Amino acid sequence: MEKRYKNCTIITGTGRVIDSGWLQVKNGTIAALGLMAEIKSDYSGDDIDLDGMTVMPGMIDCHLHLVMDGSPDPTLPLMGMDDSTATIIMINNAWKTLNAGFTTVRDLGCLNHVGLKVRDAINNGLVKGPRILCAGQMICMTGGHGWQIGIEADGPNEVRKAVRKQLKAGVDVVKLMATGGICTKGVEPGQTQYSLEEMTAGVEEAHKAGISTAAHAQGLNGVKIALHAGIDTIEHGMNLDDEAINLMLENNVPLIPTLSAGAHIISNGLQAGIPSYIVEKSICHRENRIKSCINAFKAGVAIALGTDAGTPFNLHGNNAFELSELYATGMTPHEIIISATAAAAKALKISDMTGTIEIGKQSDLLILKTNPLTDIKVLQQRKTIADIHIAGKSIFAENNFQMVLESNV
Ligand SMILES: [Zn+2]
Repeated sequence: MEKRYKNCTIITGTGRVIDSGWLQVKNGTIAALGLMAEIKSDYSGDDIDLDGMTVMPGMIDCHLHLVMDGSPDPTLPLMGMDDSTATIIMINNAWKTLNAGFTTVRDLGCLNHVGLKVRDAINNGLVKGPRILCAGQMICMTGGHGWQIGIEADGPNEVRKAVRKQLKAGVDVVKLMATGGICTKGVEPGQTQYSLEEMTAGVEEAHKAGISTAAHAQGLNGVKIALHAGIDTIEHGMNLDDEAINLMLENNVPLIPTLSAGAHIISNGLQAGIPSYIVEKSICHRENRIKSCINAFKAGVAIALGTDAGTPFNLHGNNAFELSELYATGMTPHEIIISATAAAAKALKISDMTGTIEIGKQSDLLILKTNPLTDIKVLQQRKTIADIHIAGKSIFAENNFQMVLESNV
């Protein structure tokens, strides 16, 4: 199986742009790429003329919740939900996300271990969806942020055991709740939840098994505890000071700012039925989170795209909204594309497989009618995307779901 795509602009994700180029895909992997001026004329395989379209790596959402549906109070529908219903919801949301141009996602907290089954079903070709890295259940202190769908564990030993349970189930990443958060009643984002001993136990246990860790960490003290414990990614982050930013730089820890979450809560507000404590906390911390993202980026911390999709009105399939949020912080379209591709793959420790258009990587591609380097917002429009490939396979050409696709536009 070999195909060559020619006459296209290639945004490689590495920082390089090939204005008039070609690329060759063999067995789902990028086999070669170059300039049209140097293209070989004696090629006998499938030769596809892209007629000036733009090719970029498939995008990666480092933080979402496929089981949450964007309800005003997003964990409420999950109370008492059975696993079968949760599975159907996750498959549907995974499909919407793929159609928005996201070929890889990291699910940072689902109901029971449903996400693992959905991940496996996609990998086995039973259903269509993006590549999923799955955290299974998030781990929090008793009554801590996310307890509604998390495992409650207190003290280093219980945290260790909770991590072991997730590892036993087969998770790709372990999510630990370092601080309070927005969508849980009675906790504050600035509040420290796990102690250094608890966080260290959790991170150590995951790392022993070669599994990466993510911390829901908003308040500064919780961020620092997570960093001192050896966490791999900081989710959200606010009030970041020089010490926290320097720790992130020293330990190569990216920030996943998830600015979409607050934006959708604030723009929809109380009138949309969002509980007042969610709206109030979002308004209170919005500026601070944006400022933290700007300061971290300016200092050289890698910013990886994550949306927290599933939170109120933060709908699956609208993940590219985060691109506009990052644009508003002053990042250039090219920097934002790197955040959504190469930096995100690096954050998830899968950059040997995807995130850039380089020889040997999986051919995860977006073929676009408009160049997003001119206007990053075109990626929010489904009509911009001519095709989406995962590991060389076109999801449009090779599926029977055209009706589903149309209904999701
Ligand atoms: Zn989240």
